[in-house]
Amino acid sequence: MEVMRVMAESRHHKHPGVSDSSGTPNPGNLLQLPPWLQNQELTDSDLPYIHEMLADSLSDWFEQADGFPWLTGLFLVYHADGTCAAMRSGLEDGAFQSRAGLAGQPMPAAVSAALKSCRPALSRADERDAVSLRSWDSVAVPVFTRASGTVCAVLACLLPGGTAQADDLKLLQSAALHYRGCLYRRFEHLFVAGFLREQRSVQREEKRREILFEVLRRLNDHMEVEQVLSELLASLERLYPSSRADLFLSQDYSSMNDKVKPLAFHQSGMELCRQAFLDGTMRDQRLEGWRRLAVPLAGKQGVYGVLRLDVPESDFDGADSRLLSMLAGSAGAAFEKAKLHEQANILVGELRLINDLTKRLNSSLKLSDTIQFASAELLRIFRADFCCILQVNPAKTEFVAVSSNVAEMIGESFSIDYGFVGVMWSTKEPIILSDYSSAAPVPSKLMSVTDSRSLLASPLVLNGEVIGAVMISHREPNHFSYDNYKLLQVLSTHLGLAVSNASLHAEVRRMVITDNLTGLFARHYLNERILRRQKRNDCGSLILVDIDHFKRVNDTYGHQVGDEILKQVSGIVQSSIRDGDIAARWGGEELAIYLPEVGYDITGKVAERIRKRVESETEPQVTVSCGMSQWHSTDEKISVESLFYRADMALYEAKRLGRNRVEIG
Ligand code: GH3
Ligand code: MG
Ligand code: MG
Repeated sequence: MEVMRVMAESRHHKHPGVSDSSGTPNPGNLLQLPPWLQNQELTDSDLPYIHEMLADSLSDWFEQADGFPWLTGLFLVYHADGTCAAMRSGLEDGAFQSRAGLAGQPMPAAVSAALKSCRPALSRADERDAVSLRSWDSVAVPVFTRASGTVCAVLACLLPGGTAQADDLKLLQSAALHYRGCLYRRFEHLFVAGFLREQRSVQREEKRREILFEVLRRLNDHMEVEQVLSELLASLERLYPSSRADLFLSQDYSSMNDKVKPLAFHQSGMELCRQAFLDGTMRDQRLEGWRRLAVPLAGKQGVYGVLRLDVPESDFDGADSRLLSMLAGSAGAAFEKAKLHEQANILVGELRLINDLTKRLNSSLKLSDTIQFASAELLRIFRADFCCILQVNPAKTEFVAVSSNVAEMIGESFSIDYGFVGVMWSTKEPIILSDYSSAAPVPSKLMSVTDSRSLLASPLVLNGEVIGAVMISHREPNHFSYDNYKLLQVLSTHLGLAVSNASLHAEVRRMVITDNLTGLFARHYLNERILRRQKRNDCGSLILVDIDHFKRVNDTYGHQVGDEILKQVSGIVQSSIRDGDIAARWGGEELAIYLPEVGYDITGKVAERIRKRVESETEPQVTVSCGMSQWHSTDEKISVESLFYRADMALYEAKRLGRNRVEIG
């Protein structure tokens, strides 16, 4: 059965395994055949395929039978099925005629006799026939198979009418033995050729498996998408050196490798890839000597792209399809793994970033620190050129730029419906803009002042209410990715919270250190500040202000008017001092002013100015008495208490000396 398959293949493949440059097998050059091969036998099932071998063997015999007495005769080989396999004539100088040339010719009488009897036969020319093969004398000898002795062919010789002798039969018998030798050489050779071909294809397959194994191992080693893609393309180059490979990826991925391109179905020549991508199966097309293959790059979660390979037809067989499918399958899995790994890394990175940022945002409750830090971080994280953080004012009528690396933006106010902040105010959604210069949906001061083209912005939302916005921009278009957009959205939630916390904290702090009625600082805050100053400075002064006969004012006008007077005096005090001075409500109707780094000369003037203004500006009119004290780093004992004590003594003295006056402690 094996022999039959080899022979059947040899009838279709015109590439015998062992052949010289002309493609003609040369049995004479074969090495000594092993015994098992010599015992290979033609079987009944092989016979239908041996016509060509019978013909080739006649040529072999003819060449080797130099000097045979009848080489001037006409030799024919008939297959056991009665068809003429070949004809060879010594007269026509080596001319060879195929079976086709004998079509329609009657079988020489000796041939039919030999076939029938399985014995040599001699037949005289038919005198009535002047044209056909029967007009010749014919001698024919059956050719038997080596072991079973079945007739596989008949070797015949035609001689001019009346010239055939009985001895000729003996001669032809020996010729038939020689011919059988040639036939078996051919058969063995064919067998070996098939065997070698088989072996070569096994070796090729083995080599490919080796490469595949190596590629699979290496693909699995790679955790980065770029490496997986390079490995895949490099292995294809090794497997098919004369091929051309392109990899089309469906995902938004930019590769360094110029063979990796985006999968664009609308481009011409992409139909095969489109089909392969949609079905998830390999597609194949023939193109003038080339084979185009489209292999989907698929993982467990989907198809990521298509590998397109153009291979010379001669380099490709069925085994290659299987190999490519396996390779693409493994590359798909490796790609998926690397992609997931990359995404996991990005997520871990983002989580870490969010965690760090939140921690640091909340580490300071000072609003200006929080905003300053956030601004710097946003520039760094998104590799942006410009950043601006805006807060909605308490009246909810404007966005105020509270931080920016663009000087023109700081402190700027924008109406609540202006530009991008206006859009975010109404939609509460982030914005990503790839090119402001080609499509500017709304005006933007940040974008125009900085000549930016890419924008990423997000509202700061707290309890469903927009409390501010962040805007980051870049001079180049298409700078920000969709991942950036999603990240900013998450960061904004944290930033919104941090800004709101810092604002609330600032408000609480303001309330704690401020006296409600007068708007001046509270006593404990003044104490803190003096204490700090006494550690840092060389000197400072204190004024205690007490309204004269305030009980009377209350008694005369009532407490409400008393409160009003207290506010008027506080206003006069506040507007009579410098920015660095601190005015506080010390208690009841007593106020205190601390003046850092000044002595009695200046403090006395300030106190006198206050005394005079109170006298002239209050309505109903009141007067105040002031007591002053000062400290110096050279003092023996420096304390807040001592400073107050001395001022209080001076105040007492001022009261004693008639009120509406200033005294030194
Ligand atoms: P003098 O200081 O000139 O000796 O007389 P005085 O009447 O001002 O006396 P004193 O300073 O001892 O009294 C303080 C009075 O101020 C007592 C209280 O009725 C009034 N007072 C203290 N705090 C307030 C306040 O917040 N509002 C009002 N309306 N009155 C206050
Ligand atoms: Mg008092
Ligand atoms: Mg008083």
